Amino acid sequence: MDMVSRRDFMRRSALLGAGLVGGAAMGAPRAGRPPNIVVIFADDLGYGDLSCLGHPTLHTPNLDRMAAEGMKLTQFYSAHSVCTPSRAALMTGRLPVRNGMCGNRRVLFPNSGGGLPTDEVTIASMLRPQGCQTACVGKWHLGHRRRFLPTSHGFDRYYGIPYSNDMRPCPILENETVVEEPANQDTLTARYTARCVDFIQDAGDDPFFLYYAQTFPHVPLFASRAFEETSLRGLYGDVVEELDWSVGVILDTLRRRGLAENTLVVFTSDNGPWLVMNERGGSAGLLRGGKGSTWEGGMREPAIAWWPGTIEAGSLSAEMSSTLDVLPTCAEISGAPLPEAKTLDGTSLMPILRGGEGSRSEMPYYRNDNLWAYRKGPWKIHYQTQMGYRSDHEDHDPPLLYHLEHDPSERLELGERRPDIRDEVDAAAQAHLAGVEKGEPQLGIPLPEGAKPGQIDV
Ligand code: MG
Repeated sequence: MDMVSRRDFMRRSALLGAGLVGGAAMGAPRAGRPPNIVVIFADDLGYGDLSCLGHPTLHTPNLDRMAAEGMKLTQFYSAHSVCTPSRAALMTGRLPVRNGMCGNRRVLFPNSGGGLPTDEVTIASMLRPQGCQTACVGKWHLGHRRRFLPTSHGFDRYYGIPYSNDMRPCPILENETVVEEPANQDTLTARYTARCVDFIQDAGDDPFFLYYAQTFPHVPLFASRAFEETSLRGLYGDVVEELDWSVGVILDTLRRRGLAENTLVVFTSDNGPWLVMNERGGSAGLLRGGKGSTWEGGMREPAIAWWPGTIEAGSLSAEMSSTLDVLPTCAEISGAPLPEAKTLDGTSLMPILRGGEGSRSEMPYYRNDNLWAYRKGPWKIHYQTQMGYRSDHEDHDPPLLYHLEHDPSERLELGERRPDIRDEVDAAAQAHLAGVEKGEPQLGIPLPEGAKPGQIDV
């Protein structure tokens, strides 16, 4: 990825703000009131799991309508193929390798003592000084101890489970207080939805940032009674269709409140489908691999952006883009200054959302804290590969080479035919690595002595 320097970004933002770059008026903050921002982050939803992305039996009319009113992003990536590092990247706009939020333990557990370092700036802590109300609803997974919870990272409100729904004790927290343990997961999506609606209603005339991090379709799967055994795709389909319903309720709330034209909504997923769960896991469609892998299916996500009046209805962009770009996008449209003294790994999505070109031409793929693959333009090399979450890995020397636009399924290895390209992408990858300083590892930090797994107030 381009190591876009903050100076270049700030210069470009200043030009946009001054109306010196084409299309600058669209998406600019309206006088006196920045737009609202809603990020909806599904858990382990695959690239092929929406009907508007070609799934033959899943029915997702609300997400399909969101896409019909907005833009589908077909080469949009998460920054990692598992939950914790992917969420850290979304929240900070930084590769997780920079702040230690990835490593051999893969994710945080209830017996982990670490979390997102408190000196990291999140989207919420960046936006709150702009007079923005902030709420996190759903799965956090960036540290369950009080000092790492959403309320310590810029959110006014939090309601949800602090880590994955297959970990115990799996409580529901209201801000920093356990209100239910274990969570009744049957009604989780319905309750999350109600909390999101309440927050949007309560915000009144203030701008708001809502981070709705869904617990599902991460396994174990639970659906409300109203959705049980209703889909053609089994329990997985019931769960995704309830998630789709939930998105529809949120968009309808925005429409009813007259906020649609002043709200950017981004829908995507934290990582690819959990394939080893068989029928309980999702589908990456034509992409190879899934959760835990650096094949495209592990990190390329279903992605829809919606902002009626600013994003052209029914548009599609194949520009390369990433969850790392969400924080800079929020900075641009809200007028918030970008975090100082932190290297960012993204740039604003607004040029893409306005129908233009993005500035991202490279993409790193990390497994734990090692670079396993690298993309430059349409070309991708793999130094190491692994199909899924638990399988053995293979080393490749020389690296494998694929053309992702001609061959999105990564089936046709081209290294022997184009060693020149392979070397060029390898050089770009090495230049990327030379610019990355690894942060203090957070995932292996134990709990303080005497603390119980999952204990919040410690
Ligand atoms: Mg996940």
